[in-house]
Amino acid sequence: MNDRKPADLPDHLRHFIGGKPVDSVDGGTFEVLDPMTNEAYLTAGAGQAEDVDRAVGAARSAFTDGPWPGMVARQRATILNKIADAVAAQDQRLAAWETYDTGLPITQALGQAQRAAENFRFFADLIVAQSEDSYQVPGRQLNYVHRKPVGVAGLITPWNTPFMLESWKLAPALAAGCTVVLKPAEFTPLSASLWPEIFAEAGVPDGVFNLVNGIGEQAGDALVAHPDVPLISFTGESATGQTIFARAAPMLKGLSMELGGKSPAIVFADADLDAALDSTLFGVFSLNGERCTAGSRILVERPIYDEFCAAYAERASKIIVGDPSDPATEVGTLVHPEHCAKVLSYVELGRTEGRLLAGGGRPPGLDQGNFVAPTVFADVAPEARIFTEEIFGPVVTLTPFDTEADALRLANAVKYGLAAYLWTSDLERGHNLAHRIEAGMVWLNSHNVRDLRTPFGGVKASGLGQEGGRRSLDFYSHQQAVHVSLGPAHTPRFGARS
Ligand code: NAD
Repeated sequence: MNDRKPADLPDHLRHFIGGKPVDSVDGGTFEVLDPMTNEAYLTAGAGQAEDVDRAVGAARSAFTDGPWPGMVARQRATILNKIADAVAAQDQRLAAWETYDTGLPITQALGQAQRAAENFRFFADLIVAQSEDSYQVPGRQLNYVHRKPVGVAGLITPWNTPFMLESWKLAPALAAGCTVVLKPAEFTPLSASLWPEIFAEAGVPDGVFNLVNGIGEQAGDALVAHPDVPLISFTGESATGQTIFARAAPMLKGLSMELGGKSPAIVFADADLDAALDSTLFGVFSLNGERCTAGSRILVERPIYDEFCAAYAERASKIIVGDPSDPATEVGTLVHPEHCAKVLSYVELGRTEGRLLAGGGRPPGLDQGNFVAPTVFADVAPEARIFTEEIFGPVVTLTPFDTEADALRLANAVKYGLAAYLWTSDLERGHNLAHRIEAGMVWLNSHNVRDLRTPFGGVKASGLGQEGGRRSLDFYSHQQAVHVSLGPAHTPRFGARS
């Protein structure tokens, strides 16, 4: 027993199907590692097609025969608010579990737990305030939108900020009246095991929420392939998104895909450099760099390039790397040894593709666990792999530019298009550039703070469809058009000629 380990951790995680914890039909399990030691600290049920089928069956019955889809919005919202209260009330415990499982610094895990509660509160408010369109042709026709939940939603989530990203899908899916099967990431299934109790105590009927743990290519694939799951909301790598897209195509499923990123942060010479420095450091090194919207390519206007590089490298080299459970830690451990090896391979590659200014491998004195020092490469060309490929760790590139057109060309020079960050005091330039950048979201002189009402999603290889606010509810709903005649139908009378 180590003193980092929360006292109340389970040592085995079961699936949760139809209101009950259950093991895999074939008894299979997989091991989950503590990222500080890379020793297995628990096992989880390795769900297969049969387990997914049982979970979908339970969700399907709850959808067709249960009260959830037909509840009035206020009733569902009351339950969603109770979920938010329960999440907020145990934010410290949640953060401690999440930190132990993922290696995320505890202060940042706490912020994610609070955001998870907010997601439920937000969608509770939204469904109560929601109105539907009607289109009137006076005296002739009334046309209105009847909104109804689609059915069983399959939710597949990644390992970076697991609980928060699960809440991001669970809250709108449940708010819309869908029933769900959640397949959490196999690297980090721990915090998802808290949902069943939270939902049951809030009054979510049995079968509305189901959870199947397992490996992506097994449990995840079975969920994507299941004929009774009409829609899949997926967050993860672009390559996995492509596989799921192909797999779902024969069934024409509804798909929402939040995928990878390699987002640019553009710093002009007229920017507030202190603010830009703080934001570009936090933007790539927070959440251990395992952040889809990380500003991992910093483009700097030539007149301030040398000064910016020096200041950036100095701050990066002072970032506190250490035990994720220590509140002073700024960068913790990467999630898994496989991922750590991948990030370190990019660090080695970077030595040949750029000028190393900070980091460059394991931090001294941290020989065990998945630690990578915050690493900065300067003078990185747009053809470099460390410029074009998603590393998903604490690694950043710096590249100079001369003109606005140059900056735009560099910003758009990768296959991804998730986020972009712009720092300039010339707002005319800022807005115009924002509109021309190929990115789903742009922050202009702003740190990555997102209003929950705004669209979230990427373009190009970063995603398909947009969620966020009412768009999330649209994804989980059918908007049926009902047309009513208010007078004679005036139908051309086929077959009525004598
Ligand atoms: P991943 O694609 O490896 O796995 C994500 C989930 O998909 C896991 O639950 C996994 O088990 C499952 N999965 C894997 N193969 C599958 C298959 N064939 N069929 C069905 N499910 C399958 O991604 P990851 O490594 O867990 O997460 C990191 C990635 O997620 C990064 O690329 C990151 O940018 C991206 N991400 C994107 C956003 C966003 O909003 N755009 C947010 C967070 C993370």
